[in-house]
Amino acid sequence: MANEVLKLTEQEIKTVINTYQNAQVTRNAPGVRFAAKTSDTSITIYNSGKVLFQGAGASKEAGRFGTAIPKVTTKKQGSKGDTLPQNLAALSVVGSDETGTGDFFGPVTVAACYVPADKIELVKELGVKDSKQLTDDLMREIAPSLEAALIHSVLTVPNPKYNEIQQQGNSQGKIKALLHNQALKHVLRKLKDEKPDYILIDQFAERGVYYNYLKNESEVVRENVLLATKAEGLHLSVAAASVLARVAFLEEMDRMSASVGMTLPKGAGPKVDEIAAKILLKHGEDKLKTITKWHFANLDKARKLVAKKRG
Ligand code: MN
Repeated sequence: MANEVLKLTEQEIKTVINTYQNAQVTRNAPGVRFAAKTSDTSITIYNSGKVLFQGAGASKEAGRFGTAIPKVTTKKQGSKGDTLPQNLAALSVVGSDETGTGDFFGPVTVAACYVPADKIELVKELGVKDSKQLTDDLMREIAPSLEAALIHSVLTVPNPKYNEIQQQGNSQGKIKALLHNQALKHVLRKLKDEKPDYILIDQFAERGVYYNYLKNESEVVRENVLLATKAEGLHLSVAAASVLARVAFLEEMDRMSASVGMTLPKGAGPKVDEIAAKILLKHGEDKLKTITKWHFANLDKARKLVAKKRG
C-alpha cells in the first residue's frame, strides 16, 4: 500500500482537518489526533504534527498539502512483538536497548535515545545502522557525536550494585525492565513538551511480563510504547541507543581491565573462566566480585581452575 508522510505546521494541519472534516472516522490508536477516510485514502494526523496518507490516492492527497518526508523502509526480518505502524522508521521515536547482560565481566548498561523524524538523516550520516553490523571501534568513534546530537540517557549498573540487587532475588529480566523504564523516563523528562510519536523498546520480555516487573514502580512509561525484538533494525533510535549502551559497557570494561592489569574478555566462555581464575589467584575473591556478575556459572568454573592449579 502506498503511503506518504508530511510534517505540517499547526496552521496547515487545521487546513487538512477542514478538508477532510466530512470524512472523519474514529481511530483509537496511540498518538492520533484526527483520522479520516476517503474513497481511496486514509488520512491520519498525529499529535507530533505528522500527517500520514495511506492508500491508492496517498500521493495525490498528500500533494495538496506539502512535500513528503523521504521514506525509509522498515526492515522487519524476523522481528517479533507488537504490530508496528507501517511508517515507523520515518517517525519520531525514543528507542531503548541494553547490553552486558550475557557477560560475566562488566556492567549491565541501558540507553534510551530520541531520534526525531528530522534527525533520521543526520543519525544515518553519523554512521548508525543496525548495531549488529558495527564493530566496537566504530561504535566508540561515533558515540560522542550521537551524544552531542541526540537527547539520551545512559545508565550503567556497577557490578557491586548489580550483585546486591540480584542477591535480593531480582531476576535479570526485572533489572533490565527497571533500567529501561528509568532511561525512558529520563529522556521523556528532557523532552519536556515535545512528544515522540512512539517509544520503542528492544524487546526482551513479553509485554505482560515487562509491565509486571514494573508493578511496584511509582512511575511507569506506558503511553505509545511498542515492544519488538530486533528493534535496532526497525528504528534508528534503538540502533543509536544500542551504540550508546555498548560504548558505556566498553568504557567500563577498559577501567576494570586497567584495575586488574589484564584485558577482560567479553561473554561467558572458557576464556572468561581462565581470566577469572587468574584474577582469583592474583587479587582474590573480593576483587573478582567487584567486576563480575557473581551468580554466573563462570565463578564456579574459575574456582575449579584455581583448585586444579594449586593442586
Ligand atoms: Mn537488545
